Amino acid sequence: MAFGQPSIEYKTKDQIRKMRKAGLVVSRALDAAVAAAVVGATTSDVDAAFEAVINEAGAKSNFKGYHGFPATVCVSVNEEVVHGIPGPRVLQDGDILSIDGGCSIDGWHGDSARGVIVGTADPEDQRLSDVTEEAMWRGIAALANGSRVGDIGNAIDDYVSSVEGKPLGILEDYVGHGIGTAMHQAPDVLNYRTGHRGPKIRPGLCLAIEPMLVRGDIETKTLDDDWTVVTTDASRSCQWEHTVAVHDKGIWVLTAEDGGTAKLAPLGVTPVPLD
Ligand code: MG
Ligand code: MG
Repeated sequence: MAFGQPSIEYKTKDQIRKMRKAGLVVSRALDAAVAAAVVGATTSDVDAAFEAVINEAGAKSNFKGYHGFPATVCVSVNEEVVHGIPGPRVLQDGDILSIDGGCSIDGWHGDSARGVIVGTADPEDQRLSDVTEEAMWRGIAALANGSRVGDIGNAIDDYVSSVEGKPLGILEDYVGHGIGTAMHQAPDVLNYRTGHRGPKIRPGLCLAIEPMLVRGDIETKTLDDDWTVVTTDASRSCQWEHTVAVHDKGIWVLTAEDGGTAKLAPLGVTPVPLD
């Protein structure tokens, strides 16, 4: 996991506008995927709901075919952390899902994930999802207010460590990333505090900020399908993610319908729309 990677792709305003188009489609496709995640549905149904929206929009899946991945979203259930493959698995009351999807339009990418609890939530799972989501927003606020990419991980780590109740773990095996003409670009965006400050935050920087939290130990392993990552102790996990752009007048959350306005207001951050 190298810092100071050579080639961050800084985007022009016009390129960010193109990424916004993809981001909005991802947001609407996730709305449909979340609505499809009900007791008795399969994880394939969730994928189909997402895929229908991106197809309708004329967007291209950036998950399907990615290193051979067979679906348009990852649906990771309970102890599955990331990269769960949609299939015949039937969703049960109380399952906690992370639905992670993306698309590209004219070669510009968006990537976003939401935690969802199916049916009746275990209060500790609800807390896990709420804290993971808030950790993501704290990271986004740090992109708005900070000077270095490392400030994002510091803010996420500080917030998660300060939450009252049973401690939650921050996964270190998977991190956020730059995004633009490819889904995964430099720089890595760590979700925890390190001694590295990371590259400077400046206009044109577009990042996918995606903390992954667990109720137990942060150790993970990959299943025999070569995709699905689970916690080694089978504790439940959750992921939230947004694609965010830094432009000349501020930040805008490209995969949020309102650009992040509502969720960032309590943190004192006012996102600025792309003019
Ligand atoms: Mg993602
Ligand atoms: Mg991502």
